[in-house]
Amino acid sequence: MIGFDLTDEQQLLEQTIREWVSRDILPNIRAWDRAHGFDRERVVGGMRDLGLLGVSVPQEYGGAGMDYTALGIVSEELEYADTSLRVVMSVHMGLNCLTLLTWGTEDQKQRYLVPQAQGKKLSGYGLTEPGAGSDARAIQTTATRHGDTYILNGEKSWISLADVADNFLVVAWTDLEKKQQRDPSGLSMFIVERAFKGFSSGPMKEKWGILAGNTGWFAMDAVEVPAANLVGQPGEGFKIAMFALDQGRFTVAAGATGLIRACRDACVTYAKARHAFGVEIGHHQLVKAMIAQMESDYQASRLLWLRSGWMKNTGQRNTKETGLAKWFATVASERAAGDAVQVHGANGYSDEYPVGRFYRNCKGAVIYEGTREIHTLMQADYLLGYRVDRPTRCELPSYKG
Ligand SMILES: Cc1cc2nc3c(=O)[nH]c(=O)nc-3n(C[C@H](O)[C@H](O)[C@H](O)COP(=O)(O)OP(=O)(O)OC[C@H]3O[C@@H](n4cnc5c(N)ncnc54)[C@H](O)[C@@H]3O)c2cc1C
Repeated sequence: MIGFDLTDEQQLLEQTIREWVSRDILPNIRAWDRAHGFDRERVVGGMRDLGLLGVSVPQEYGGAGMDYTALGIVSEELEYADTSLRVVMSVHMGLNCLTLLTWGTEDQKQRYLVPQAQGKKLSGYGLTEPGAGSDARAIQTTATRHGDTYILNGEKSWISLADVADNFLVVAWTDLEKKQQRDPSGLSMFIVERAFKGFSSGPMKEKWGILAGNTGWFAMDAVEVPAANLVGQPGEGFKIAMFALDQGRFTVAAGATGLIRACRDACVTYAKARHAFGVEIGHHQLVKAMIAQMESDYQASRLLWLRSGWMKNTGQRNTKETGLAKWFATVASERAAGDAVQVHGANGYSDEYPVGRFYRNCKGAVIYEGTREIHTLMQADYLLGYRVDRPTRCELPSYKG
């Protein structure tokens, strides 16, 4: 039976985050956005204390043991406040923790997943490089085996939490012949700690959105990574990287849904407070049309991520559905944020109101974890039969309850 009601536990989670966000985040977010940084203890410490940093990780690995719908709820509620908060969930939980849960060895789970799920360590994901984004096979980072270690050399750019996270999943070429041929079966995945010698990082300069969050680069100069930190088998890196995106995109989809809701709510409030031509602007039909579109986009986006979460809970492959949810919600969030500024008129063009921040924040998600264009191609390719998902060696564990 398909249901759309949240369970009592899920409702409690939603309510708890709403209370925390309105108490600890919303009064500060404008200042953090202006300062280009957040208060780590307030934000990450708050998420840790609420158990959000391990929300869908089983309790035996230090998590809260909730289902994947709960992860969507967390993402939606966090991005309702600010995209920077949801980004933490996307890279830490979506891209990193769930990948370790699925592909990691028991030793890796104990050493990395447990402290991450407990919120004692933060984690990120490094695929993109200065010369390689959508075209992931163009990455240049290499990992050369020397006895019990791999030596990693390369630079990753546009990495969320680059200056903040403790551990990263890093994709690198282990087969240099396959690198020449752009054969992705020559890529492997590694856990790299910030603390490893030869690791350095810095922020992306002049970033104009998600300002309260951290986005940067990291470089690896002959970083010695223990062979025990190879995730999966040599040559499985590309598959694992794509698997991680299935989970990250889910959080991006649910997050963008929260941003649409934030736009809608801000506009409803403003449309009843602002007057033009002797009436509340909400009485003007073209303003109504923008608000109605936001509601339509919000409801459709929510249904799409709920379906994706349900498929994860029930152990079904959901690359296509999650991609659709991410594509639809992020494009819709850009429309909603643009219209939210429009509904606010000149006041929307100022950071005195939150909609300008929503407008700057929404664009990133139309670019990362598959650009709008890449998702367009993916959906068409599924329909045309040019793309088929094959089973992978490891699948995300279904929710056991
Ligand atoms: C705020 C932010 C946070 C990020 N966080 C992370 C992170 O944590 N980890 C990480 O690894 N990466 C991260 N990224 C990087 C992100 O994943 C890449 O930016 C994204 O994959 C796009 O790559 P690119 O920027 O190199 O654009 P390109 O791939 O160079 O694309 C440029 C343009 O060409 C289009 N294009 C490219 N190929 C095709 C094609 N085949 N057909 C049609 N159009 C095409 C694209 O759609 C786009 O419009 C982040 C990016 C941002 C903005």
